Amino acid sequence: MLFSELPLANPLQRAIRAVGYETPTPIQEQSIPSLLEGKDLLGIAQTGTGKTAAFALPILQLLLDSGKFRAPKTCRALILLPTRELAIQVEECFKQYAQFTAISSTCIFGGVGDASQKNCLVRGVDVLVATPGRLLDLIGQKAVSLKALEFFVLDEADRMLDMGFIHDIRKVVALLPQKRQNLFFSATMPDDITKLAATILRPNPVRVEVAPQSTPIERIRQELYRIDKRRKGALLKELLLEHPEMKKVLVFSRTKHGADKIVWVLEKAGVKCAAIHGNKSQTRRQEALKNFKDEKIRVLVATDIAARGIDVDDVSHVFNYDLPDVPETFVHRIGRTARAGKDGIAISFCAPDEEQDLRAIEKLTRIRIPEGDKAIFEKLPPPQKEIPESEMRNARGRGFPRREKPAQASPKSPKQQPPKSAQSVQQAKLERNPEQSPKPGNHKRRRNRPGSKARRRMRESGSIPN
Ligand code: AMP
Repeated sequence: MLFSELPLANPLQRAIRAVGYETPTPIQEQSIPSLLEGKDLLGIAQTGTGKTAAFALPILQLLLDSGKFRAPKTCRALILLPTRELAIQVEECFKQYAQFTAISSTCIFGGVGDASQKNCLVRGVDVLVATPGRLLDLIGQKAVSLKALEFFVLDEADRMLDMGFIHDIRKVVALLPQKRQNLFFSATMPDDITKLAATILRPNPVRVEVAPQSTPIERIRQELYRIDKRRKGALLKELLLEHPEMKKVLVFSRTKHGADKIVWVLEKAGVKCAAIHGNKSQTRRQEALKNFKDEKIRVLVATDIAARGIDVDDVSHVFNYDLPDVPETFVHRIGRTARAGKDGIAISFCAPDEEQDLRAIEKLTRIRIPEGDKAIFEKLPPPQKEIPESEMRNARGRGFPRREKPAQASPKSPKQQPPKSAQSVQQAKLERNPEQSPKPGNHKRRRNRPGSKARRRMRESGSIPN
């Protein structure tokens, strides 16, 4: 089937040609006709299958067909996603596909000031792409209402639940009008997701399931290096220096600090790279991602959460610098290469204490990862000591990235601030800095430290010695 055979209006066909698509992917072929008939859809698919166009194109077509207009402070289609990166990407797709129409779209997410987002909503918008916390926040502030909604898409439902958004999703669903078309996408369908889908979709939705996870994995060439933890940096550096064909390289680190360390090592070797993780501001993350997409940097180092749903075409190599302790994460990671029919290479480093993780990965994927060429070990220097934090601190300003504070929302006057539950505050924090798992009682630990007001008062009252 060709796109030109689908009943999509000329401006959409033009946009499809402009982005270079010719044939619909399986999920597009199976979803678009049913969605154009107004049916609800349950899509079991992961990023990389073309699912965004599978829902965006028919929604745009139906918005064009309906002849209705957006009203102030409302939206006609709502796409809910778990992270700001995904929200930005999906909205970019809508903008591309709607570029020859008058359909408007905007994107709202936490971790940044809300003034410009509220501005975009004043006149109403056709397509609103949002993360749950910020959406509820702006609904609370009466910046937007869902009363005129016609289409509701819940994307990446399994990740939404992983990230603790279930209560927010329920709150959003309770605010939707009864009459609406629903689309629900998830990469996996465990019981809790099936139950959630049943509360959102109308009975007997069209069910579309594409590309089981094993298919792309088999197309990825894999290599394994068993290596001491302290030599991983040197091995990565050596591989990159020896193989100029490694052009667009995504490196996964288990921790934020580890990601910064990798960047430090590579920059010292003259490799252009950047890191994205929860301690980087939104602007820095977007900048790093753009530079990577535009091939201004060769290596992007990411933690799993920061990398979720990142949509970069033509990643040539994925490195698992650390093996993930959840084997499914490995599948998500290496699925960033070998997309859209292309080949890809995934290289994994396994330290002695990661052997168990490796066994779990090989069991899940049913693939024994072949070992890479051991000759490279001879070129490596002897094991280095762990880079001491003090050395990295000294190097800040000489190449080592400054530790950034997580992005903060702009301060609001108390009057503007909507009442927030402890949970919504927690979730807003999670949206801003998803890797920062909540640490209960942190504030308590900080209390009454020397020099604190409370401690000074206690000292003055004689309850503690000076
Ligand atoms: P998605 O699964 O929506 O994140 O899409 C993954 C990638 O496939 C994106 O880079 C899309 O631009 C691309 N893509 C989507 N549909 C098609 C298509 N029919 N032909 C070629 N590329 C596509």
